[in-house]
Amino acid sequence: MQLTVHDKATKERIGEVSVAQRDEVTRAVDRASQAFASWSQVPVVERARLLFRYADALEHRREELALSVSRENGKTLADARGEVRRGIEAVEFACGMPSLIMGDALPNVARGIDSVSVRYPLGVCAGITPFNFPAMIPLWMFPLAIAAGNTFVLKPSPQTPLTSDLLSSIAQACGFPEGVLSVVHGGVETAELLIDHPGVAAVSFVGSSDAARNVQERAMRAHKRVQALGGAKNYLIVMPDAVSAATCDAVIGAAFGGAGQRCLAGSVVVAVGTAGDAIAPRLVEAAKNLRLGRGADDGVEMGPVVSDEAITRIRGYVERARSTGARVLLDADAVTVPEGGFFTAPVIFDRVDPHSELAHDEIFGPVLAIVRAATLDDAIDIANRSRYGNASSIFTRDGEAARTFAARIEVGMVGINVGIAAPMAFFPFGGVKDSIFGDLRCHGKDAVAFYTQQRVVISRWPSASETKAHPRR
Ligand code: NAD
Repeated sequence: MQLTVHDKATKERIGEVSVAQRDEVTRAVDRASQAFASWSQVPVVERARLLFRYADALEHRREELALSVSRENGKTLADARGEVRRGIEAVEFACGMPSLIMGDALPNVARGIDSVSVRYPLGVCAGITPFNFPAMIPLWMFPLAIAAGNTFVLKPSPQTPLTSDLLSSIAQACGFPEGVLSVVHGGVETAELLIDHPGVAAVSFVGSSDAARNVQERAMRAHKRVQALGGAKNYLIVMPDAVSAATCDAVIGAAFGGAGQRCLAGSVVVAVGTAGDAIAPRLVEAAKNLRLGRGADDGVEMGPVVSDEAITRIRGYVERARSTGARVLLDADAVTVPEGGFFTAPVIFDRVDPHSELAHDEIFGPVLAIVRAATLDDAIDIANRSRYGNASSIFTRDGEAARTFAARIEVGMVGINVGIAAPMAFFPFGGVKDSIFGDLRCHGKDAVAFYTQQRVVISRWPSASETKAHPRR
């Protein structure tokens, strides 16, 4: 079976991939298992050298990669370039594997006994990735896994599979040995074949929470290592002292960047006290002027969403919110929407009930809800009621408010006067609650721990006097 890939801004067919059935998944895992036998024996410095070459090649082809991302995902070229940059940074981090993988040593833990802890690769690792970051999220996974001595089978989103093929062909051109990195295509079925395959030792997953839960449960039943990052609903708390052009820009970027299809999208503003009346009209003015269009065209600020199904889901939320009396500040018809692609206009609701689905569900589209709160404590309580705990930000000039927020907010990534709290590659990326299933996050030291097995070696060597007392022959 073939999967057709579309340019999300025009619906034009831009490529096709074949869905991997059981035999192809098995072949990919077998190839990866065979490759593991030799790849795991390559000294880590040589593995890192290959990763340096890969980072360099990605750097040279970054524009091609950004165009691929922009076409198959729909995001603006500026966003796509940023995504590729973040992906390359993850490869650069993986280049440091000789230091990252180093263990600890303690000589003479008891008389004549030395102890070291060392990290070994796991075997074949699998990666299952979402549509919204077709370059960056695969690059969070396979470079680190491979630098640590594992081999990798990647299954990207069926909605954006082409960039993964490009990442893989660049890897092959850099000299990745046969079987070290493979890509298989398909949807849930292919993902499950991969997770269930007995040759796969560990599974990295990024996607929606229900899928993440399924992946974690499936992998754990087979006693495999698993990290499964899920969905999000990220709250942006705006204090009255922070209503400014910079805050407004940050909120607009967080809410409507990537057409709201980011796991770090700030889709609820919790406006404290007088902040609501002051910021709402500014946000409406800015969102109304967003230029929608094909991501690669000059001046475009918001691209399409991923599919007609996504449009139906997003409009369903808008219609239900309207029918339950939420106040529409910016309606979809206020912004010109280009013809042809999967476009849907930005929408802003005010005085949204903090218990409503608009305030709680991950809509994954350009819909911003403004919730009013009397105090910072109330705002934090509203955010902490969420089933998700990916990221949250506060905008304030008050250090005490920022400290209270950072200490009490239940998320994995905290922003202070930053709309999108995205950790760089040397920090861990991930949330808490239903935003993650499994303990170890993506990239940073967590990922090194995830892709390696730690062993402690305790050695005792007989002293010369003992050897004399018990001669061998
Ligand atoms: P999705 O869950 O539909 O699909 C993600 C990947 O999982 C795809 O490759 C898909 O084929 C596969 N898949 C889907 N259902 C599966 C199942 N039941 N079992 C196994 N595999 C399955 O997600 P999407 O629509 O591609 O991406 C958007 C979602 O990803 C949002 O919820 C977003 O918040 C989340 N996301 C999270 C992060 C994070 O860091 N937490 C980052 C990016 C995206």
